[in-house]
Amino acid sequence: MALIAIDEAHSLVLEDLTPLDAEAVPFADAANRVLSASISCDRPMPPFDRSMMDGFALRSQDLQTLPTSLRVIAQVMAGGSYEGEVGPGEAVRIMTGAPVPAGADAVQMIENTRCDSPDTVTVLASVPAGRHLARQGSEWESGQVVLNAGAVLTAARLGVCAMVGQRAVMVHRTPRVVILSTGDELVEIGDSPGPYQIRESNRTSVGQLVQSAGGDVVYTAIVPDDEAATCEAIRNALAHADVLLMSGGISKGDRDLVAPCLQKEGVETVFHGVCIKPGKPLFFGRAGEKLVFGLPGNPVSSYVTARLFVLPAIRRLLGWAQGLEPVVTMTLRSSVAATGNRPWLKPATVVWGKGVRVLDTAGSADLSGFAQGNAMVWLPANSGPFSMGDPVQVLVGAMTP
Ligand code: AMP
Ligand code: MG
Repeated sequence: MALIAIDEAHSLVLEDLTPLDAEAVPFADAANRVLSASISCDRPMPPFDRSMMDGFALRSQDLQTLPTSLRVIAQVMAGGSYEGEVGPGEAVRIMTGAPVPAGADAVQMIENTRCDSPDTVTVLASVPAGRHLARQGSEWESGQVVLNAGAVLTAARLGVCAMVGQRAVMVHRTPRVVILSTGDELVEIGDSPGPYQIRESNRTSVGQLVQSAGGDVVYTAIVPDDEAATCEAIRNALAHADVLLMSGGISKGDRDLVAPCLQKEGVETVFHGVCIKPGKPLFFGRAGEKLVFGLPGNPVSSYVTARLFVLPAIRRLLGWAQGLEPVVTMTLRSSVAATGNRPWLKPATVVWGKGVRVLDTAGSADLSGFAQGNAMVWLPANSGPFSMGDPVQVLVGAMTP
């Protein structure tokens, strides 16, 4: 199959992707989940005319001449109330968050007053009507939608749920992800590797990417480079997963069995090969509603392709309207060699307020660059060399829509 462009691969993965079905979740457990139904306000906000200052509730027209002495007829704290009315020449001592009594049309802050005795206040400055009070319903009307379907439940949005008494929310189900790492040379981290064996690491790095994007890694395993074992592992995984991630065995080698085995197990190939460095052998297919990715086994390749293609799909399954990481332009703070005939993705460090420094690595097996850095630079094909001060495109992680 011919290599396809990154943009085309993105559209093929993301087009027709619909969020998973909805479930009810206690709002305290719903952080970073996505609302499948909007949330409305159960009462006006604020629920009463609320003082925004510690001071005195009064009638603004009483302050025509200054200073003016007013009779303090009551005091009202947050959570309490004064049911009487403020008449001409009168004031009520009031604290922030307390209801403004009838008759008063403004609050003068305590700093602009002088208390001569417990029942008299001298007001030193005028206030226009409406100042320092929030009218009932001025933030939200009762029944008004406060969060739309599709909202990712960030800290502020969960705060809004609490404000309107939404104890359970309807959110999209979390995608179940299975990761199978293929390779006869791979051993579990707890085992001691033989001289030509290596420790399996992609389930950890890719699995952590998936978890941090909100996916649920339900099962992982190491699978030998054997057709029967690979087919059986794929079959079992597809029975449980919404997303199957195969690592390794997807390029052109003699033991690269993943693509033929996926086909045998009924996975339809959407593309196999993307014009990108690293990650060229990336495979994407579907088995009904289930998504299947074949990630190249090299640790950097699987990290980069998971971040670029798998995470956006997971976000969309979770209900995000936009799954891709935003690309921002930053000033280069290092030099970089010219790219070849594929776009390059390189580990980088954002230097706060200054720009971005691209990190050197020893190739697509060397995860140390991504381990040091906090960002990824995207250099177009056939461009560069790049020097200090050049603008470059940077991915710094996803932003909630
Ligand atoms: P493959 O994609 O299977 O041809 O593997 C490419 C390279 O990545 C080989 O050097 C593998 O040993 C290595 N590799 C494959 N899978 C993993 C893994 N899960 N963890 C660490 N290295 C891997
Ligand atoms: Mg292999």
